[in-house]
Amino acid sequence: MKRFVRQVYTGEGGYVFARSPEEIARLNGLSGLCRLASNENPLPPPASVVEAGLSALREGNRYPEARPDALIAALRRCHGDYSFIIGNGMDGVIENVVRTVVDPGDRVVVSTPTFSFYGLAAEAQGGVVVPAPREADFSVDVRAFVEACRGAKIAFLCSPNNPTGNALPVETVREILDGIDCLLFLDNAYVEFSGIDYRLLMDEYDTLIEGRTMSKAYSLAGLRFGYAFVPEALLPYLNRAATPFAVNVVALAAVGAALAEQGHVDLTAARARVWRERFLAGISRPVAPSDANFVLVDVAPMTGDEAAARLAGKGVIVRSCRSFSGLADHYIRVSIGSDRENEVFLEEINRL
Ligand SMILES: *Cc1c(COP(=O)(O)O)cnc(C)c1O
Repeated sequence: MKRFVRQVYTGEGGYVFARSPEEIARLNGLSGLCRLASNENPLPPPASVVEAGLSALREGNRYPEARPDALIAALRRCHGDYSFIIGNGMDGVIENVVRTVVDPGDRVVVSTPTFSFYGLAAEAQGGVVVPAPREADFSVDVRAFVEACRGAKIAFLCSPNNPTGNALPVETVREILDGIDCLLFLDNAYVEFSGIDYRLLMDEYDTLIEGRTMSKAYSLAGLRFGYAFVPEALLPYLNRAATPFAVNVVALAAVGAALAEQGHVDLTAARARVWRERFLAGISRPVAPSDANFVLVDVAPMTGDEAAARLAGKGVIVRSCRSFSGLADHYIRVSIGSDRENEVFLEEINRL
């Protein structure tokens, strides 16, 4: 069969998933696992969101609207009068953007270490991924990044960054935008946890795309919904390249309700602020300061794989960062979970 498959998919590689909690529980004969590997929100979605999703499912025999006007209106109520695209998770949005702009051979700059899907999506279109490594303290080397962007089609920058947790000041992003000619995709998956607002940059630059997701602060990882602020002039092309009906009716309805639940986001962000401080103070190993709902822990002399495996043996599932290219192999990424999960993690990490 391999001869039928595009070369880009015949090698090793691809998205690295966290091992499923069910599998780990089964392997270790455990129950009550602490699920701290995927930066999910430990709080379930608010009741209004569940209700909206359930009622939409009752009309699941119908296709969604071709243009989801009600949802776009909800996004505008929430954020202001911007242009938006929506997708099946932010992953779907990234795929839509890359499909729209990347031709075979185009350079795609990625600030590393970071989320792997930018590179995977770019390579799927025949793009050439150009890594722009961060500094040792995980800040962005603006000059090197701008230099790498010369002749590129699009660049990806994640803030707060996954897996390092740090956010870039608005000024730094502005400096980058002033220096580059290509599009910039600013991934703001964790922006609600950071207290930094990059939206105003949308008014100043017509080369900026800001990606958002409902998977983290809004507790809807399982629903799969993401969106992006996009330059108005790019919108028709993005719409032309989009997969038809990529977002289902349940997600459209539930997300509309979720956008009105600011209290849920505030509570979630407040918990993250408290717990990242406790992690920073309470973990007897180097922890990178975080603006997100997770922290990066240096577990040297163990490898990330070794630490993750030993914690899994205790029922605590964290992410080994081995698969993040551009990062040394002695880190784990730990999400902020429920109070109980966080307490158990703190106890177990300090026992390793
Ligand atoms: C979780 C995450 C996303 C993807 O979110 P989905 O909307 O669930 O696809 C995008 N970017 C980063 C950096 C993430 O961590």
